[in-house]
Amino acid sequence: MAEKLSEYRRKRDFQRTTEPSDGGRPNAAQPIYVIQRHDASTLHYDVRLEIDGVLVSWAVPKGPPEQPGQRHLAVPTEDHPLSYADFAGRIPKGEYGAGTVEIWDRGTYRNLRAEIEGEEPVSMADTLAEGKIEVYLQGQKLDGRYAFIRMANSDDDEPQWLMLKMKDDDGGRDTG
Ligand code: MN
Repeated sequence: MAEKLSEYRRKRDFQRTTEPSDGGRPNAAQPIYVIQRHDASTLHYDVRLEIDGVLVSWAVPKGPPEQPGQRHLAVPTEDHPLSYADFAGRIPKGEYGAGTVEIWDRGTYRNLRAEIEGEEPVSMADTLAEGKIEVYLQGQKLDGRYAFIRMANSDDDEPQWLMLKMKDDDGGRDTG
């Protein structure tokens, strides 16, 4: 995991910020997600999914989409340590991400692509690599199916993603 967090660490001075440099235990029973409202130079929501020992992260300027079929731009950001799921507070002026962080929602998720009847289960690591994540987020605010889809870009652009609220009849437990 250490190498996954090198970008995270490089961007921060842990003498100055109270953000964690490492830590957090993998959640064996059910992986977690957290959404942090980050009032930085521009307000956004950081959506983070636990995948293989780190929090894979996107900055979603508009926050999670509310209506089925609605999609919001999600800009990938560096992996964060699992312990970041507990972080709230103020990142000092001049530091990376300066501003306030609040935990907006948190909970657990299920990998829906591991649950499709008659299909080979796909691991979260593989759904991430493919750019097609489908999860059921069950938290204090959110309770439903969401997808994270990587969009095709021209070669010289950073790939962008969309966070999409899936329709309830896209299969699975909450039909009808
Ligand atoms: Mn942020």
